[in-house]
Amino acid sequence: MAQTKKTKSAKTKSAKKAPAKTANKAKDIKYVYDFGKKTDGDAKLRELLGGKGANLAEMARIGLPVPPGFTISTEVCTHYYANKRTYPKVLDSQIRKSVELMEKQLGKKLGDLKTPLLLSVRSGARDSMPGMMDTILNLGLNDETVEALATSSGNARFAWDCYRRFIQMYGDVVMGVQKLPSEDHDPFEEIIEKFKAEIFPKQKGEVDDSKISVTQMKELVNRFKILVKKRTGKDFPTCPWEQLEGSVGAVFGSWMNDRAIVYRRKYGIPAAWGTAVNVQAMVFGNTGKKSGSGVAFTRDPASGEKVLYGEFLTDAQGEDVVAGVRTPRPVAQLKKVLPNPFKELVAVQKTLEKHFKDMQDFEFTIEEEKLYMLQTRNGKRTGLAAVRIAVEMVKERLIDWKTAINRVPADQLDQVLAPVFDAAAQKAADTLCKGLPAGPGAASGRVCLNAERAVEAAKSGKVLLVRQETSPEDLRGMIAAEGILTARGGVSSHAALVARQMGKVCVCGAAALEIDYKARTVKVGKKTFKEGDFMSINGTNGEVFGGELKTAPSEIIQVLVDKKLSPKKSRAYQNFSKLMKWCEQATKMDVRTNADSPTQVANAVAFGASGIGLCRTEHMFFEGNRIDAMRQMILADDEKNRRTALKKLLPFQRKDFTGIFKALEGRPATIRLLDPPLHEFLPHDQNSQRDLAKKLGVSLASVKRRVEDLHEFNPMLGHRGCRLGISYSEITEMQTQAIIEAALAVQESGIEVKPEIMVPLVGFAKELELQVEVIHATAKKVFAAKGKKVKYLVGTMIEIPRAALVADEIAKTAQFFSFGTNDLTQTTLGMSRDDSGSFLPNYTEMDVVSANPFASVDQTGVGQLMEIAVKKGKSSRRGIKLGICGEHGGDPSSVVFCHNIGLNYVSCSPFRVPTARLAAAQAAVS
Ligand code: ADP
Ligand code: MG
Ligand code: MG
Repeated sequence: MAQTKKTKSAKTKSAKKAPAKTANKAKDIKYVYDFGKKTDGDAKLRELLGGKGANLAEMARIGLPVPPGFTISTEVCTHYYANKRTYPKVLDSQIRKSVELMEKQLGKKLGDLKTPLLLSVRSGARDSMPGMMDTILNLGLNDETVEALATSSGNARFAWDCYRRFIQMYGDVVMGVQKLPSEDHDPFEEIIEKFKAEIFPKQKGEVDDSKISVTQMKELVNRFKILVKKRTGKDFPTCPWEQLEGSVGAVFGSWMNDRAIVYRRKYGIPAAWGTAVNVQAMVFGNTGKKSGSGVAFTRDPASGEKVLYGEFLTDAQGEDVVAGVRTPRPVAQLKKVLPNPFKELVAVQKTLEKHFKDMQDFEFTIEEEKLYMLQTRNGKRTGLAAVRIAVEMVKERLIDWKTAINRVPADQLDQVLAPVFDAAAQKAADTLCKGLPAGPGAASGRVCLNAERAVEAAKSGKVLLVRQETSPEDLRGMIAAEGILTARGGVSSHAALVARQMGKVCVCGAAALEIDYKARTVKVGKKTFKEGDFMSINGTNGEVFGGELKTAPSEIIQVLVDKKLSPKKSRAYQNFSKLMKWCEQATKMDVRTNADSPTQVANAVAFGASGIGLCRTEHMFFEGNRIDAMRQMILADDEKNRRTALKKLLPFQRKDFTGIFKALEGRPATIRLLDPPLHEFLPHDQNSQRDLAKKLGVSLASVKRRVEDLHEFNPMLGHRGCRLGISYSEITEMQTQAIIEAALAVQESGIEVKPEIMVPLVGFAKELELQVEVIHATAKKVFAAKGKKVKYLVGTMIEIPRAALVADEIAKTAQFFSFGTNDLTQTTLGMSRDDSGSFLPNYTEMDVVSANPFASVDQTGVGQLMEIAVKKGKSSRRGIKLGICGEHGGDPSSVVFCHNIGLNYVSCSPFRVPTARLAAAQAAVS
């Protein structure tokens, strides 16, 4: 109690003192910024004037035809909420002054009975923000001014149309006359529909608004007013000043409505930013055939082509274009319809780009053939367009190459590599459900529910592998399939990971799919697809379709991977390679790739990878009949039998490494020794176990027993990584032998080789020491046997917190570190990636985590360990090579982080290489 009293009295004290001070100060504060003939603001005042207001001022400054007006600054919004929803005292007089200025410029007056000034009132935060108040047009009209407008324009229908619109917008937005939960339609629209049905009983509502006469329009206005009175108990305000005050209040009020709050929370926009209010003289696109309204882009936002792109409607006010009531026409048609304004638009297109130096998205109105600009902002664009626009703007000398690098959002770049659906085909298709977009692009194929049948079916056509979830056993099927669709798992599930590495289209976690492996059917709602039926997926947005949809590979893939298209013939490729060249000029950090096969290496190299950052040897064991030898090795109950089986594997591994070294053409390759727990390689169902027993000539019981022996309660933390190599050093010996022999053979053929042998899951320096001993001893043996030598490095993954903490000890033996951020995240967070799907989405929603830590490095937690490891590692080995090979290596914000902590390279899946290169370049230039 005492405390409350204290604060209270403290408050009143300061409140007593404050007014004198703030009143003095407030007089000096400028809250209202004019634009028009006199312009106070400019584009740099975005924080104060909001994006819309700042750019309106800027356009006025550079002489574009902007109707005059003023912006009430975001500081008023802040004041409004800091002072119980009241305004600064001086605001009213500042607004009146600015209205007077407009009146003088235009020779019109607010509320005048001869030439009334009409206004638009619009909200405008720093960035455009859905959830904010809708625009109010035609403010200033009442029963008298509407007649004045009718007389002065000589167009009564137009005047009453404006009035009708104004009551509708103001009634909705300011007075809150909106659809009730019990209603199906907006009440104003309901009245219009009913009215149309009355006056044109035969046409069933299919009436163009232009057919409504003046008298009928008046009646509509009357009914609108009655509705407002009935719903609110208040008369529609007739005083223009009162209307203005109401509208400004509604804009500020909307800053704290639920929709806006939810949006801000989602995108991390602070409430303290506030919104501005833009008040502007109306210009009219609805006076007849020589008027109109539209939106346009200075370049095509889908393709990036330098053409005026957009749409317009004649005889319409702005909101008609986006409302979808009438179908707008392509802006190019203006050339015929209204040639003079079109010419002006083309000139505006040039001026805007020359000045803003970026593609603009703008809104315009034409009143009696005269063009007016109402808004401009940097336009949103696809990845493809972003690349083209950046490159062409450098050519046009609008921007320099460093700016161009920053113009393409790195996470949009893989869009340019993805196959695409034929636009018309997608439009016509029926969407069944949605999953998570895990591998961008488009794929269509016959449904196959297991890997084997997928491989078979792929021989005679396109296949879509549809699974509950995927595992390493499905790899062959995944390779054969056009795309992968799973019902479970997130964007970092096995399916997603492999899909990205192979550049496959993938949608995962499409929970609406009911997959019946026995009946071989996929049910979605009421539809049932049998194996062999066609389904299609869009991995860019997660949509799943029934039936076959036409696709085409991206041109860049056709040039670099398929080599079916000449580079000269593809503009998309040329733009892309230009951008990549600039990235190379800028980048300090290398980008390597995670690859296990010569094809993957070749692809990655074509995309500009400077080597392999992670070659997972275990993936090689699933190919062909190698798995038999692998299983024999695992089932062996003593070293002798294990060595016999390993001998069979040796030539396979040697061949693989030879292929990889060749494809690398002298680039380095980090090869990780066997990592996963052995039970992952064994069959778990009765039938496959019986098959295996037969093949190996052992009893089913013994296979079963060994599988049971290998069972672990928590395999991720179990007998895996270097722990395997320490228990069974013969595995490490075999792998080292294969690597060194392959290296020697390739070196012999005249190609340089740079093997880097990597020991996984090290937590103790001693673990690494033990493995390094085996590696060096084996290498020595091979050198002696062949009478030749090759240089190689030995290093370790840092993927356990302990390894990061004792990195100085480990670096005494390790010649390089590679951060295995997948496991480092799992072990640091104590969170299983594959089980996180059940709670992580909730965590994101509730702001526990700001992003998925398995997709983007948790910089404050995991990142700290990385920094410790970098520092400690360098302290005992100054020139230690540092890289990252987790999935995070392809995530733009993680790449920037890696740049900042001083890594030498990042490594990611082949098709992510361009994205990582771009992100690395962006980190370097900014
Ligand atoms: P949004 O942010 O939703 O685009 P705006 O504030 O840009 O909303 O307004 C929507 C539309 O209202 C504009 O595109 C324009 O056509 C129309 N409009 C706004 N101000 C005026 C004005 N002064 N004269 C005529 N139309 C206007
Ligand atoms: Mg707009
Ligand atoms: Mg690992």
